[in-house]
Amino acid sequence: MGNWGKGFVGIVFFGMMVLLLAACGGGETGAADDVGSAENPLQVVTSFTIIQDMAREIGGDDVEIHNLVPTGTDPHEYEPLPEDIKKATDADVLFYNGLNLEGGEKGWFFKMIDSVGQDEANVYSLTEEVEPMYIGGHDGKVEEINPHAFINPNVGIQMAEAMRDALMEADPERKDAYEERGNKYIDRLKDIEAEYAGKIDDIPKENRVLVTSERAFQYLASQYGLEEAFIWEIDTEENGSPEQIKSLVNYIKESDVPVLFVESNVDPRPMETVSKESGVPIFEKPIYSDEIGKPGEEVDTYVKYLNYNIKLIHDGLKK
Ligand SMILES: [Zn+2]
Repeated sequence: MGNWGKGFVGIVFFGMMVLLLAACGGGETGAADDVGSAENPLQVVTSFTIIQDMAREIGGDDVEIHNLVPTGTDPHEYEPLPEDIKKATDADVLFYNGLNLEGGEKGWFFKMIDSVGQDEANVYSLTEEVEPMYIGGHDGKVEEINPHAFINPNVGIQMAEAMRDALMEADPERKDAYEERGNKYIDRLKDIEAEYAGKIDDIPKENRVLVTSERAFQYLASQYGLEEAFIWEIDTEENGSPEQIKSLVNYIKESDVPVLFVESNVDPRPMETVSKESGVPIFEKPIYSDEIGKPGEEVDTYVKYLNYNIKLIHDGLKK
């Protein structure tokens, strides 16, 4: 009994010493553990800023991201830099939008994938499940897929699901972490999706017309019952010819459009001409389409991008 008692006290004492030591040296022990969990992060390459941000949210510390097309650069046509080629060669996983955003199968992204000899199994489109919408197909123009599906938060949810599943597949050891972060992120997007429906419902029906430079808002407009009007269909074609401007001005004169929007990444001059000729003002802040802002700017995440755009559309068209 006495021995057992002594032993017990000894064990308790030893236990307290361990705790004490752990508390003193906690910084070091903890740090070693942290490095363990973030060690050997999955090497991820993303094609443009919105996907980069999704990878940051869902991948957390378990991934290291290299993004290709930066803010301020057109994702439809891009010339990869030597650094991009190197990262693409070494990447474990590569994410792209698809729906021809990166120029389609003959575009810059797949040219790069082929040139670096990446295994196609590591390359994931985030829009496989998205029903494509089309532009062109009239005035002698070829019909092509409209790439800008991500402007619609419903599509954002599908893309986040695709990324979550891809990361879980590519890095099964950390699959629980991707699943948890992915689901949390998707819940946030679902809240935003509900907010879109409510805010658009609050705009008088006759004002539900979204006028932008490029026809980038087709998926959003069709989801929420907005009418769309634009100067040109896609950035890769002629932007703002006199005929394009005239046709939009005529449309605006026949309808009750309260305000015009200009995207953050386009030349504002064609829309300024439309505004002058139609007498309809341009909204004081740019709308976002093909990019998010640089870190530290007002719209530097996809969640902020979605929230910002719906506030802009609501405030501009509500009057
Ligand atoms: Zn575009």
